[in-house]
Amino acid sequence: MAKLNMLRVNRLPLIHYGVAVLASLLALLFRLLLEPILQGEAPLLLFILPVMVSAWYGGFKPGILATILSALVGSYFFIPPIFSFVPTDLADAIRCSIFLVEGILISALNESLRRSKQRSEATALSLKRSEEQSRLIIEGVQDYAIFMLGLDGRIVTWNDGAQGITGYGVGEILGRHLIILYPSSSQTSEAADHLKPQQELQIATTEGRFVSEDWQQRKDGSLFWASIVTTGLRDETRNLRGFSRITRDITERKQAEESLIRSAHRLEALHEIDRAILATEFGGEPIGTALDRVSQLVPCERAIATLFDFETNTAQILQEARSEGEANPEVVPLVFFLPERVFQQDLQQKVEYITAAQICPISLTRSLSAQGSCIRVPLVSDEILLGELTLFVTATTEWSDEYQDIVTEVANQLAIALRQSQLRNQIQQKADELEQRVIERTLKLQAANQELESFAYSISHDLRAPLRAIQGFAQAFLEDYGDRLDNLGQEYAQRIVTAAARLDTLIQDLLNYSRVSRTDLQLQRINLTAVVEDVLTQLGASLQEQQAQVIVEKPLLSVLGHRSTLVQIVSNLISNAAKFVPPERTPQIKIWTEMREDRVRLWVADNGIGIAPQHQDRIFQIFERLHGVEVYPGTGIGLAIVCKGVERMGGQMGLESQIGEGSQFWIELRRGT
Ligand code: ADP
Repeated sequence: MAKLNMLRVNRLPLIHYGVAVLASLLALLFRLLLEPILQGEAPLLLFILPVMVSAWYGGFKPGILATILSALVGSYFFIPPIFSFVPTDLADAIRCSIFLVEGILISALNESLRRSKQRSEATALSLKRSEEQSRLIIEGVQDYAIFMLGLDGRIVTWNDGAQGITGYGVGEILGRHLIILYPSSSQTSEAADHLKPQQELQIATTEGRFVSEDWQQRKDGSLFWASIVTTGLRDETRNLRGFSRITRDITERKQAEESLIRSAHRLEALHEIDRAILATEFGGEPIGTALDRVSQLVPCERAIATLFDFETNTAQILQEARSEGEANPEVVPLVFFLPERVFQQDLQQKVEYITAAQICPISLTRSLSAQGSCIRVPLVSDEILLGELTLFVTATTEWSDEYQDIVTEVANQLAIALRQSQLRNQIQQKADELEQRVIERTLKLQAANQELESFAYSISHDLRAPLRAIQGFAQAFLEDYGDRLDNLGQEYAQRIVTAAARLDTLIQDLLNYSRVSRTDLQLQRINLTAVVEDVLTQLGASLQEQQAQVIVEKPLLSVLGHRSTLVQIVSNLISNAAKFVPPERTPQIKIWTEMREDRVRLWVADNGIGIAPQHQDRIFQIFERLHGVEVYPGTGIGLAIVCKGVERMGGQMGLESQIGEGSQFWIELRRGT
């Protein structure tokens, strides 16, 4: 085949040149025939014809060939001298030259005419081919409906995709108005139905393009969600010729988007329920939030949470979504929700009964519309059936797995919230009981303490009278009858006097302690210099006896305190400082005050025996002593009085001590202003 074509191509110029030769010869023949008539006139005129024919048929080169051949035969046969190629006359020579120029021009013009014709033919062919391809592509597209509309909105082309998506065949759709693809509404008029497509075409006309997403209707009446692009088509002079419309069925994408939005809402709702449960105490808001949310996510007429009590066989309808004015939870018999035979069954059976129950709980049916059913989900936590979540759905509601999941999730959260609340209530109840018991016991203890203190006070007080009698009579006995007693008798009498004196000191100390504990202390500004001076005067005799040296860094600061209690405290500290000193050492006592923020600290330091660290806490307790009475006399009450007094004035106390090197006791009270 290729070879044949080659031959054809090769033979084509030969034919062209052959035609040039033949045409020239024919022209010669005609001219010879006409010669008797023309008589040598216009010798070359007829020869212009073979030139034109050859140039038209074969192009430039055959045209030139015909021109040369014609010029040669014309001058040979018809231009004098006859049978010679070279004209002798100048006019004939010019005639020949003009003929040659005309021939060349005709050949060149024909050649360019031929070429442009060939080009335009090639262009038209390729245009036709590309149009054909475009048409095939558009018609073959399956995923998109691509079609054209006339100016009046009627469909003029229809591709395979359009047929596949809408179900309309080419034959039945061409010439129909675009409105056929729009869902018709039973509620609106035909004019109103037309409005939408007309508006779209209007916008495509004014703005060039209209892009939208909308519901479209298939031939079988079903709907699909479409992405639509309508474009106004204009010719070179900008006149509107019609519209192209590309439609794609994106129902699946829309469904996926909607399901994504739904699951986002669902997550958000569940989070909100979680937050509500965490944020507030159970009994109101969390349940309200949960029920409101579930009724927003799941189409239902009512959503109700109920708590079961298997001890009293009652059910408490806790709260209902969108209920107005139902403040108090309603309590109804449990049989409204479960038949009596189920009460004693195990958890599994109860759960199965609720889940499978087709009928609504009795208490709810009265307020529900006639057609519909209840979805009942048990509320179970910690293997305990706490109640149920009831949703009333109408007969037309489509109940999907997704809805089932949502209700189950919410029910699980509610169950946890209910259980937590129950446990919290139990803990709270226990804590309340415990607190009540502590309060009662504290009150009893306080009463007993008070009783004990007043008892100790009255005993101590009452003991002093007989003790004085013992002391007085023993003294008198010794003075009046001492000379009649032998040494042993005198010693016995002396021991009675000493023991009575010790007992008196003890009772005195106990009374002081009791006074410090019981007196109502009115705090006021007390000058410590005056207090210390008073004490030193009181203790003057005994300090002198002990040869104690006392240094007071005056003036001492003032404190907020109770004067007589302070005198008692300072007296106890100074007398201890003078007392607990080794016999060979002269007691040296130093007293000073210092500011510590808004408090004043009073120091009493000695050079005594010191106190071992392990005993430093102990000695502030009543009757705690580190030595026998025979070594250092005392009752063990002095520091207990200091401790109680300081505590009652809102202060603190402590000590720094090293054994053998002395002790520094301090008390700290608020500054007296
Ligand atoms: P009392 O002085 O009557 O023994 P206190 O309650 O005043 O009772 O003191 C308790 C104990 O603390 C004392 O028996 C003594 O052992 C110790 N004590 C108190 N003050 C000092 C001190 N300045 N130096 C050494 N020991 C002390």
